[in-house]
Amino acid sequence: MANIGYIQVVRHCNHFCGFCSNPSTPYTHDFDSMRVLVDDFVERDYFGVILTGGEPTLHPELPRITAYAREQGLHVRVITNGHRLADLDFCREMADAGLTLVHVSVYSTRPDVEEALRGAKDTLPRALQAMENADRCGIEVNVNCVINRLNADHLDETIRHHIKERPFIRHFVWNNLDPSMGRAEVNQARFTPRLADFELSLARALRLLHKSGRSFRVEKVPLCYMGEFPWASTETRKIVKGEERIVHFLDAKQTVRQRDWEHVYTEGCGVCSLRLICGGLFDRGGGYDPGELTPVFVDRDQVVRHILDDQADPSYRNRFPSFESWQADFDLRAAESRARREARGLEARDDSGPSPEFRAEGAPAVGAVTKRGLRLFTSKRRAEARKAEGTDLAMESLAAQVPPETDPD
Ligand code: SF4
Repeated sequence: MANIGYIQVVRHCNHFCGFCSNPSTPYTHDFDSMRVLVDDFVERDYFGVILTGGEPTLHPELPRITAYAREQGLHVRVITNGHRLADLDFCREMADAGLTLVHVSVYSTRPDVEEALRGAKDTLPRALQAMENADRCGIEVNVNCVINRLNADHLDETIRHHIKERPFIRHFVWNNLDPSMGRAEVNQARFTPRLADFELSLARALRLLHKSGRSFRVEKVPLCYMGEFPWASTETRKIVKGEERIVHFLDAKQTVRQRDWEHVYTEGCGVCSLRLICGGLFDRGGGYDPGELTPVFVDRDQVVRHILDDQADPSYRNRFPSFESWQADFDLRAAESRARREARGLEARDDSGPSPEFRAEGAPAVGAVTKRGLRLFTSKRRAEARKAEGTDLAMESLAAQVPPETDPD
């Protein structure tokens, strides 16, 4: 197993995406509060940590915590919009700190679409420059993309562009939009795609990548929309391998430990051959239509074997000497997962959002709310509200962003 955890090192950002699911909060981290979380991952024998945000490069101690996590033996990745890595000196500083892999997020290589999604000007050239800089500094580059209504029809166009212009990029990650949190929740109608909106362009994009020998993962897309690549589903890989994920949210949710990867299913899923290894429809927030799910009838065991035999996967450990030993382990885990879901009353629909049962036992506090943090948050939120004026974007609700009984306004 190769569990990878997430630490949100900041929650502010220099972009203003209308579908941001993790917008500003008054919580802040210093080096020590991040170090505790890194140590916790090490104790849990995690393979790596992903430093994310907000925009993580805005934290002044990002190089220091990167170096620390590396020293503890963790594989370290950063997810960034690329704005600061477009500065070669900063990129070098991160490489010197030990960063070897960066995920640069680009939603579309059409500048007008990217700008509309980012809520800021000239973001695309900086993100592309960040990729060039990272490659020059010896940092491997992956591209992250959130699938949404505005880019859904041309995911393959973006891939064609990257393959031609930046052949050094070998791995791509898609996340279907999570409509349950932040500005994504209150701007659902504008950004949440129908599954059918991206079905064809995603299939074309995956085929292009597969043909060119590149690798890819897709999260929050049900297997009936993954065409001939169900083994590339993040949820399916985690279900098959029995992996968990801990996310340290820098907000009132704090730590969320995800061990179950099953979301929403319909009656038709009951006859689907992939049901037991499919994450279903990620529909917290009710942004998607379960009526779009259609059962498929393909060989489930072939998908499982593809995942277990993938020697390029960092979690490849030859953990299961035979398919039968995997099956026995899987049956056990499936029963445990069912029991957990039933205990939470989530057998039919998992639309309640992260619940307290997900909190890791003895998890350390995630950041702190200081007077300074509150002041910065209040002024950031005012500035963002001004940006939202004149657009048709709604500002996120404060409920999940701030500690209970806090009134930052
Ligand atoms: S029909 Fe249901 S179980 Fe089958 S692939 Fe689609 S979402 Fe998954």
